[in-house]
Amino acid sequence: MDAEDETRKLSERILRSERDSRYLRRDSDQRKVMEEVFDRSTLLSIEELIRGGRLKKLNGVVNSGKEARVYYGLSPREDPVAVKIYMMSSSDFKKRVGYIAGDRRFGKLPSNSREAIALWVRKEFKNLQLAAWAGIRVPRPLSFFKNIIIMEYIGEPPRPAPTFAEAEVDQEDCDWTLRTVQKLYKSAGLVHADLSEYNIFKHGSEQVLFDMGSAVLVSHPQAEEFLERDIRNMVRFFRKRGLAPGDAGAWLGKIVK
Ligand code: ATP
Ligand code: MN
Repeated sequence: MDAEDETRKLSERILRSERDSRYLRRDSDQRKVMEEVFDRSTLLSIEELIRGGRLKKLNGVVNSGKEARVYYGLSPREDPVAVKIYMMSSSDFKKRVGYIAGDRRFGKLPSNSREAIALWVRKEFKNLQLAAWAGIRVPRPLSFFKNIIIMEYIGEPPRPAPTFAEAEVDQEDCDWTLRTVQKLYKSAGLVHADLSEYNIFKHGSEQVLFDMGSAVLVSHPQAEEFLERDIRNMVRFFRKRGLAPGDAGAWLGKIVK
C-alpha cells in the first residue's frame, strides 16, 4: 500500500470515529473537522507516530477547544493516552508569542504559525516534564511531534475526568492548589500562567494539573504578573464555591517566600 492510500485509510478511520463519538462533541461538521484538525500534514504526522511505535491507535475525540482537540488513543502497550492536536488552521498563535519570548529555553522566535505551533508543543511537553520531575501530579508526557502531544489519559476513556469546574471541590482541593502552585514555582521553576478551575482535573480523590502550554520559567519577565493572575483566579473560584481560601496576597507570600 502506498503512502497516499495509507493517508486516505487513516482519514476514513478518523472520520468514522468522529461519527461514532458524535455524542461527545460540540462541533458536528465533519468536513470542517477534517479541514481544521486533520489537514494532510497532521495526517502524515499521525502516521509517523504510529509507524515509529509511539502510538498504536487513534480513537474518537474527547474534547475540543479553540486551538486544540484532544483525542483518546492507545499506546503500543495498549494504555489509554490523550492525543492533543493543535490545529494548524488556528490563527490565534500570535498572542502566544509573549509566552515564548522571554523564555530563555527557546532562542529564535518563530517566523510563521507552523513554527510557532511546533514550538508551543515542545514548550508544553517540556513544561509537563519539568512539573513531573518536581513531583507534581500532571498527565505523564509520553511524546510529541510537530503539532501533536501524547500524554497519559486522565479519566475513564472515552470520557475525560471532570475538572474542578465540573466537580465538587473541598478544602483539601483548595490546600492542594496552594501547595501545587508553590511546588511548581519553587521546585519546577515554573508559573502555570493559564491556571483556572478548567485546567485541574479531579479524578476520584486525586487532583491533576494540566494544560501546561502557557507555563513560563520563573525568570520570565512577566512571571510574577502571571503568578498573581493565577492565584487570583483560584482564590475567586474557591470563594465562589463557599470555601475560605484566604486572600490572594497571603497565597503569594506563601508561594514566593
Ligand atoms: P481549552 O481552550 O478548552 O482550555 P486547551 O486547548 O487549553 O482547551 P486542554 O485544556 O489541555 O486544551 O484540554 C482540553 C480538554 O481536553 C480538557 O478539558 C479535557 O476534557 C481534555 N483533556 C486534555 N488533556 C487530557 C488528558 N490528559 N486526559 C484526558 N482528557 C484530557
Ligand atoms: Mn485548557
